[in-house]
Amino acid sequence: MTRSLYDLDPGQLEALVAEAGEPPYRARQLVHWLDDRRQPDPRAMTNLPRSLRARLSERFAETGLALDQHQAGDDGWTHKFLFRLPGGDAVESVLMLYPPAGSRPEDDWEGGPRGRATVCISSQAGCAMGCTFCATGQFGFTRHLSAGEIVEQVARVSTLLPELRPGPGAPDHLTNVVFMGMGEPFANQDATWGAAYRLHQGFGLSARAITISTVGLVPGIRRAAAEPLPVNLAVSIHAADDATRDLLVPVNRTWPIAALLEAVRDYVAATRRRVSFEYALMDGVNDDLDQARKLGRLLAPLRVPHSGGHAAHVNLIPYNPTPGTGFSPPSKSAVRRFRETVAASGVPVSVRANRGVGIDAACGQLRTTAGRPGRRVLPLAEPG
Ligand code: SAH
Ligand code: SF4
Repeated sequence: MTRSLYDLDPGQLEALVAEAGEPPYRARQLVHWLDDRRQPDPRAMTNLPRSLRARLSERFAETGLALDQHQAGDDGWTHKFLFRLPGGDAVESVLMLYPPAGSRPEDDWEGGPRGRATVCISSQAGCAMGCTFCATGQFGFTRHLSAGEIVEQVARVSTLLPELRPGPGAPDHLTNVVFMGMGEPFANQDATWGAAYRLHQGFGLSARAITISTVGLVPGIRRAAAEPLPVNLAVSIHAADDATRDLLVPVNRTWPIAALLEAVRDYVAATRRRVSFEYALMDGVNDDLDQARKLGRLLAPLRVPHSGGHAAHVNLIPYNPTPGTGFSPPSKSAVRRFRETVAASGVPVSVRANRGVGIDAACGQLRTTAGRPGRRVLPLAEPG
């Protein structure tokens, strides 16, 4: 079963138009709609003959993502989307808009993503990794997404973006994609890489505008080192010793910190690229200065070959409260002290601004429960 039109390769698209009795250039027009216009709905492909549009939309009626809910937060600078998948499951994607420097002080953290429009996409419905602090992890695993379903999230959010801009200062097109939504990308490697290549080659995003975040699956990191596409890698570390990390990240028992860092070292040696380490700070769990010093000691030796510059960059994320997990955010002063202690080791470190907290769209809050009552839904016109 075709899950998304983005799962069809050029040969399959050609076969499709041939079947409909249309000349081969129609397949190129289809690719233009899918990749350049990022429009997966055949009904909106206005330069195709009406009969072909009707045929495609009928044939693929059960295919692709259906926008089910949309919520706006942060005064319109953050948007969360719930997409229904073929078969009834659902995933969430989050659009985060960042104004140019100076206009929203809360976004002006060091190295902050100014002038960007970043979409955070899901790679799986749910997640099997079971991290104890993560809403998605608590919800469990439903299914893998296909490469096309991953790409289609980017397409859908791209086409919605222009009508969602909170003001003229907001970016007018998508600039970045992060695999930080629901799911573990390296537990679904072929689809993840298939999507990353399509976003680069089809959508024209530079590899450096794409970030894949992993909980630390070593085989996935080894594959990333060998893939020719130089995307950014983020590793969710969250603790600097195995005893603490075991409590938060169950896969640490399979690939403990030493194995994880060995894979990252090899990755850096092979690619000469820097790696981000995500660290969700939780009050009284992993926010003590002993962890900060250990983290500095673990990461300071990671260096980019030849240049000798630090290869690790730490992103501190104050924990987003997730009901039922028992974890809570640290105080502002604990975040500051932790940050200063890591910085003292020489490792570059920043604190990531919390986005979308009010609409449960922040990191680790993505969870679509069939039983959860729907929130406010803004009406959005579907094309056609
Ligand atoms: N499975 C991948 C990518 C999705 S999670 C991974 O774990 O890296 C994206 C990031 O949000 C991860 O760093 C994750 O650990 C973090 N996260 C999860 N729950 C969070 C929470 N409640 N508060 C802050 N960060 C959280
Ligand atoms: Fe899965 Fe990442 Fe959540 Fe862990 S933090 S359960 S790997 S989504």
